[in-house]
Amino acid sequence: MQKRILIVEDEPAIRDMVAFALRKGEYEPVHAGDAREAQSAIAERVPDLILLDWMLPGISGLELARRWRRDELTREVPIIMLTARGEENDRVSGLESGVDDYVVKPFSARELLARIKAVMRRSREDDPDGSVSVGQLRIDGAAHRVFAGSTAVPVGPTEYRLLHFFMTHAERVYTRTQLLDHIWGGNVYVEERTVDVHIRRLRKALEPALLDNMVQTVRGAGYRFSAST
Ligand code: CA
Repeated sequence: MQKRILIVEDEPAIRDMVAFALRKGEYEPVHAGDAREAQSAIAERVPDLILLDWMLPGISGLELARRWRRDELTREVPIIMLTARGEENDRVSGLESGVDDYVVKPFSARELLARIKAVMRRSREDDPDGSVSVGQLRIDGAAHRVFAGSTAVPVGPTEYRLLHFFMTHAERVYTRTQLLDHIWGGNVYVEERTVDVHIRRLRKALEPALLDNMVQTVRGAGYRFSAST
C-alpha cells in the first residue's frame, strides 16, 4: 500500500507543489487547509507522516504538533514542519513539541523527498527482531513498543530509534556527533543541539517509570546508556 502523507497547509500554491512532489515520490498526498480538516483526515485514516505548516489559520502548527503527540492515535506519526525563513530560530521549541524535522520554504521537491525518506527510515523498525532488554526496560521490536516492566512507555519515532541504539550499545559513551551519525544518518544536516532535545524527550518519557537516569550525561564527552542508575 502506498504511504499516505497528510499535508496541513493553508497556502494552495505550496499545497499543490508539495502534493505534486509527493506523487512523484510515489506517496499518496492528502490535503488539509486547517486543523479541523486535518483532524477529519486523521480520523478517516492515520497517515504515515504529516507535513505541517508552521502558521495555520486559527492555530499554530506547534500547538497542533503538541496535540498530536499527546493523542494515542497520532503519537508515533512522524511530523515534518514547513517553516518560512526566519522561523527557523524557533526550531528547538518545535523539536520540543514533538516535531521530527524541518523544511524551510522555499524548498525543492528533491529536498522535501529526501527529508521524508530520512524521517521514514528513522521511524521504521530497523530490524523486525530488534527486541532488546536492559534492566527493567524492554523494547519489543516486532510490536515496535517500549516497556518498563509490564507498563508501556510511549515514545516518539526518533526517541524510539535513539533508545534502541542506546539499548543495543549500553554502557558505552557516545558523542553527539556519533549519535547524529547513528540515529540521523550522516547525510542529514542536523545540529548537535538536536541530540540534546531528543535526549531530553527520551528522559521525560522514561521519567514516570523512574528510569530516566539510565540516560546519563558524561560531562565533556556525550551520553551513555547504563543499566545502573
Ligand atoms: Ca500558512
